[in-house]
Amino acid sequence: KVYLKRLEIQGFKSFADKTNLEFNPGITLVVGPNGSGKSNIADAIRWVLGEQSVKSLRGGKMEDVIFAGSDKRRPLGMSEVSLTIDNSSGIFPLEFNEVTVTRRLYRSGESDYLINRVPCRLKDVHELFMDTGVGREGFSIIGQGKVDEILSAKPEERRGLLEEAAGIVKYRHRKREAVRK
Ligand code: ATP
Ligand code: MG
Repeated sequence: KVYLKRLEIQGFKSFADKTNLEFNPGITLVVGPNGSGKSNIADAIRWVLGEQSVKSLRGGKMEDVIFAGSDKRRPLGMSEVSLTIDNSSGIFPLEFNEVTVTRRLYRSGESDYLINRVPCRLKDVHELFMDTGVGREGFSIIGQGKVDEILSAKPEERRGLLEEAAGIVKYRHRKREAVRK
């Protein structure tokens, strides 16, 4: 089974300090008062998977994901999130039992993506997760209001969701790339 093993957050939104969250197979609940950062954890997962929509990250500009400072702390210059997924089932075409994806963003606008600590392109991250059901557009992250969105989606949008679930997006994507070339 594929499951999230670990999420390491540093400088992302309210997580100024390095925070390591370990997950186990099964269900994990995150509880806490309003504004304590629960949704920021879901945002961090979506962000590291390559989310480009600032709106879905609940910000005005991408820089808003970097810790903006508080009464006691100065703003940080960089945000870094790493997500480690168990790959013992080999769902990812990599010869590792774990896959770690990292994303960094500096205030200068510079950003990095890494797969197992090796720099890569955003495209590589997208391709890695395509059809695994883990991707940022997959069913795995259902944000507030998402259920509603699926129910009221246009036919072609709903088709996209079904295709992702069926695992054929990869082929559609490759075909599109091939036609373009
Ligand atoms: P609720 O129960 O209301 O849904 P929550 O636990 O989901 O709350 P979040 O939305 O995750 O809360 O966290 C909101 C907090 O994160 C706010 O206090 C906000 O100020 C803080 N925050 C968001 N972005 C940043 C940032 N860039 N720097 C510092 N703090 C941030
Ligand atoms: Mg919330």
